[in-house]
Amino acid sequence: MTVIRGATTIAKDTPQEISVAVKDLLDEVFQENAIKKEEVRSFVFSLTADIHSYHPAKAARECGYDYAPLFACVEPEIDGGLKLCIRLMLLIEQTENRTAKHIYQRGAKVLRKDISEIFNVALDGPAGSGKSTVAKILARDYNILYLDTGAMYRACALKALREKVSPKDSKGVEKLLPTLNLKVEYKDGAQHTILDGEDVSLAIRENAVSMAASDISAHKAVRLKMVEMQREIAKQMSCVLDGRDIGSTVLPNAKFKFFITADSKIRAERRYKELQARGQTVEFETLHEEIVKRDKQDSEREFSPLKKADDAYLLDTSKMNVDEVVAKIKSIIQSKI
Ligand code: C5P
Repeated sequence: MTVIRGATTIAKDTPQEISVAVKDLLDEVFQENAIKKEEVRSFVFSLTADIHSYHPAKAARECGYDYAPLFACVEPEIDGGLKLCIRLMLLIEQTENRTAKHIYQRGAKVLRKDISEIFNVALDGPAGSGKSTVAKILARDYNILYLDTGAMYRACALKALREKVSPKDSKGVEKLLPTLNLKVEYKDGAQHTILDGEDVSLAIRENAVSMAASDISAHKAVRLKMVEMQREIAKQMSCVLDGRDIGSTVLPNAKFKFFITADSKIRAERRYKELQARGQTVEFETLHEEIVKRDKQDSEREFSPLKKADDAYLLDTSKMNVDEVVAKIKSIIQSKI
């Protein structure tokens, strides 16, 4: 017996999504492995426990794969596991010289990074647009890395503040750069920003660092260094990157690009709540003014300004909740994958 494996994901748990995904998966498995009907012994599907709306075996039968027994079972729920995923195990008669070609489609590509192409999602937008919340959910659901590029600029800013170099002083900042010892590490799926050996993940979230990050990120030398680090990470693994210039400069060839924005008052409210939840007190009006100022500065700078890439999908989240934004992005990704 030869076993051929395959997997796919759906954006929403609907019968239509399941039928299309199962058909696409089986079509590719059969085509790529040149399988004949009479060789097939059994179709075995397994589904993640968040799928309820339709039976993949039924979907397979309906699209003509009905010439061997079909079976489906539900997988245990695993923390951090891929969501809305359908796996296939196809048992076929052993024939000489057959090497199984396993097929991983859509979000399930990340399950077999060894045989799948790298898959990067670029999420750009102004402060408080909800990028990081959405990016974290996407990364968790697709089981890929989340790279918060803003954290890297924030760490540069913190370094300058600590060394008493003005983040606006391009000569001073340029001198500081060779001494910048910045690393991005992952523990339990969360990004930790390490500056000179110290975990500064919390310190860089201080409000004072936000404006300094915007100042320091305008320098060409800083951008060149950060962009190089970001490209290196994105080259090695599938990830969701959030920032200002990911789609336009860091990964101009990324397959999935989104530009998320919202009304500035709404973004300020989101940041206000976020800071409050962390126990930081700041005046709402001041925060709003800072956000508007930061947007202006980020958009008007000469090198890699905050900008929607021409081929990025624009999403105004002013009237959308997080679930709606995630669902929209996932459905676009699914349709292009
Ligand atoms: O996203 P966050 O608010 O953490 O970013 C802090 C600052 O870092 C931004 O205001 C922006 O000036 C800068 N930044 C950037 N390019 C990125 C990410 C952030 O210039 N890719």
